Amino acid sequence: MQWETVIGLEIHVQLATNTKIFSGAATAFGAAPNTQACAVDLGLPGILPVVNEEAINMAIKFGLGIDAEINKVNVFERKNYFYPDLPKGYQTTQLEKPIVGAGHVDITLADGSTKSIRIHHAHLEEDAGKSLHEGSFNGEHGMSGIDLNRAGTPLIEIVTEPDIRNAEEAVAFAKKLHSIVTTLGICDGDMSQGSMRFDVNVSVRPTGQKAFGTRTETKNLNSFKFMEAAILKEVERQIDLIEDGGTVIQETRLYNGDTGEARSMRSKEEANDYRYFPCPDLLPIIINDSRLEKLKAEMPEMPDAKKARFIADFDLSDYDAEILSADQATANYFEATVRASDDAKLSANWIMGELSRSLNQNSIAISASPVTADMLGGLIKRIKDNTISGKIAKEVFEVLWQGECSTADAVIEKKGLKQVTDTGAIEAMINEVLANNAQQVENYRAAEKDKRSKMIGFFVGQCMKASKGKANPGMVNQILKQKLDG
Ligand code: ADP
Ligand code: MG
Repeated sequence: MQWETVIGLEIHVQLATNTKIFSGAATAFGAAPNTQACAVDLGLPGILPVVNEEAINMAIKFGLGIDAEINKVNVFERKNYFYPDLPKGYQTTQLEKPIVGAGHVDITLADGSTKSIRIHHAHLEEDAGKSLHEGSFNGEHGMSGIDLNRAGTPLIEIVTEPDIRNAEEAVAFAKKLHSIVTTLGICDGDMSQGSMRFDVNVSVRPTGQKAFGTRTETKNLNSFKFMEAAILKEVERQIDLIEDGGTVIQETRLYNGDTGEARSMRSKEEANDYRYFPCPDLLPIIINDSRLEKLKAEMPEMPDAKKARFIADFDLSDYDAEILSADQATANYFEATVRASDDAKLSANWIMGELSRSLNQNSIAISASPVTADMLGGLIKRIKDNTISGKIAKEVFEVLWQGECSTADAVIEKKGLKQVTDTGAIEAMINEVLANNAQQVENYRAAEKDKRSKMIGFFVGQCMKASKGKANPGMVNQILKQKLDG
């Protein structure tokens, strides 16, 4: 039987506010346990929350960024459950009246096709603390520790409609969402620190069937790679199960990215009744038109608009434009390189080639690249004006990367890499190569005309070698032809 996969995602995005959603405690990552938790975050008796207006603004910007309705009256509710890292005994979240209503995120797939994924809604909530179990807690054994630094960190939870049909679409969606929130500057996008966490709801149904199958939810995937692997594994598990006569049960599952193992966490029967009710300590959030207009005016250029502009202004391919507009830092670097070099195509090639290879190999973010956009632009200028060949340019890039010089011109000067364009010098070199390879010259002249263009490559190679790559390849080609054919 043929099966179709149905996927809906729920994504927790940590908002990049300085302080927590209901308290003045700092949100910075990596502080010593419980040094960034105040009375509110500890849930001490008598505490009263105060809403962080910046978190509200960021949620509104997200809504504007996905063409969503903003709910001008939205309400915080209490979701009641017990867990040691939730000292208040409830999470403050939104249910009936979330801040962001229906919207959409559009994705581009590898075959160039596009698809719009509907967003059901997005709501504001607070994060819980962290339980540190044996081994990870001060080296103590048989004990667990609670770190409440993360308690009260502002989150938006984004819920998609079940519009996604396979792992590739899920990853494209996740990357697009990452691009949207980092462009808006509402999230630092650092997935390794948990700034974006994905829950994937997966079901399968026979191809052609209208009704959805029973879904499972795999929680807390914090990399695109893990998400893809978890989906592929769960789809296979469900199909195998059904084909063997079993049925999928609705359950919450865990996936361990390091071991690639998945297991059930709890079934629907064990699910909590959260007894939601509007939080009596917090007034409804009322968003007036002037606030909305002010935030609209602050909106940056969104990735889709940026991509369209890159295609129109710089004549980039759809593929190149997609990659270069995907995150703000890459887009900024690209535009600065174009300004410095005046050549968009070469800038695109170098950024997606040599630069990104070096950044990946060394796990360095583009914003921290040792070769700045100005440096790369200066290098590209020298390729364009024929001072150096593309091949020598890679050598120059390497020296810039190592930090030995701070401009391409300084490297070219210091290492004597300037391209040889002096006709006399090139002719002398060619004469020597031809004299040293008399047999090949004879073969060449004896060959049919249409075979010759292939054979000339040998002589070009010898000349480039003799000049240590510095001879102008175009001139070498031209003079060689004259001498051999003429
Ligand atoms: P609940 O009310 O139990 O939270 P929702 O209807 O809000 O469930 O859906 C939660 C998430 O699961 C959404 O992202 C939704 O798109 C997705 N989802 C719902 N039904 C299915 C299904 N049959 N298969 C895959 N995903 C689904
Ligand atoms: Mg729901």
